[in-house]
Amino acid sequence: MDSDQWKLASLQTLEYLQRLGVKHLPKPSAQLSEILADWVDVSSKGSGGTSIPSSRPQLQAPEPKQPTSQVPKKPAQAPAQVAAPVPVQVASPSAMEPASRSVAKPYGPPVESPWMTPARSSQERSEALSQLKLQVEACRLCKDIVCHRRQTVFGVGPVTTRFVMIGDAPGPEEDRLGEPFVGASGELFDKILRATGIARDQVYVLNTLKCRPPNNRVPSDIELDNCRPYIEAQLEILQPEYIICWGATAVRAVLQTTESIGRLRGRFHCYKKAKVLVTYHPTYLERAPEAKKLTWQDMQMLMRELGTLKA
Ligand code: SF4
Repeated sequence: MDSDQWKLASLQTLEYLQRLGVKHLPKPSAQLSEILADWVDVSSKGSGGTSIPSSRPQLQAPEPKQPTSQVPKKPAQAPAQVAAPVPVQVASPSAMEPASRSVAKPYGPPVESPWMTPARSSQERSEALSQLKLQVEACRLCKDIVCHRRQTVFGVGPVTTRFVMIGDAPGPEEDRLGEPFVGASGELFDKILRATGIARDQVYVLNTLKCRPPNNRVPSDIELDNCRPYIEAQLEILQPEYIICWGATAVRAVLQTTESIGRLRGRFHCYKKAKVLVTYHPTYLERAPEAKKLTWQDMQMLMRELGTLKA
């Protein structure tokens, strides 16, 4: 190798070392090339005159080489690696987290946990509910129920409401009309709301199950579990401030406890960001009128919370 070749090889070596991230290297210059060429020449002579093999990579060609342990692993001039964007997975309503993980225990101070999605506009809520309603109408999960139902009872009301009222499983009138809280118990429900200062068209009403169990039997745990994702999805879309559970079945669905109404009423519970009030179902109040004063106390508690009842 002649002197010019050594100079070229020396410059290439410098560039290569720079790419490997070796700092404090002198700038390539003609003078430095001379020095390096001399050094290489002397070295080769000093090692017994053996010429440096032409295959020696750092001199022959500036081909990239696996960095050694002495060399910083990240080449300083290597092109930056840009991570591919990770697509955001949006959970479908049926895949939402079970309420048991987000609902506070009915005992002790309520613990706030946020809604899973940002609040939506009225139009977005209406569209989301329409989509969900189609899913419910197509649902046939509860084998013992679907062959008896006339229709599904999805729920109805304003999509930007502060209040969601949850009743038992649909009864015969609800199954016939496709709407919760209708018939005789619905009339009593309306009266209670009026006395509380809340109009029926201010609240969203829904049932614990979307389909009527045969012979008005109490829903099984499996049926409640089957239908709970729909309830949760509705609550997630509506994001109410207050949820009122009318009756034990609604309590089982929302708070997931079999504790009696008598032990749970009289204070607020928590479902995500909503305050949950528990009281007796109007159907029960028709059978046990003495319990009406307890439900009225619960409504007064709500009114005090809303600032519509002083003291
Ligand atoms: S009760 Fe709910 S889960 Fe069961 S079939 Fe009806 S919609 Fe589906």
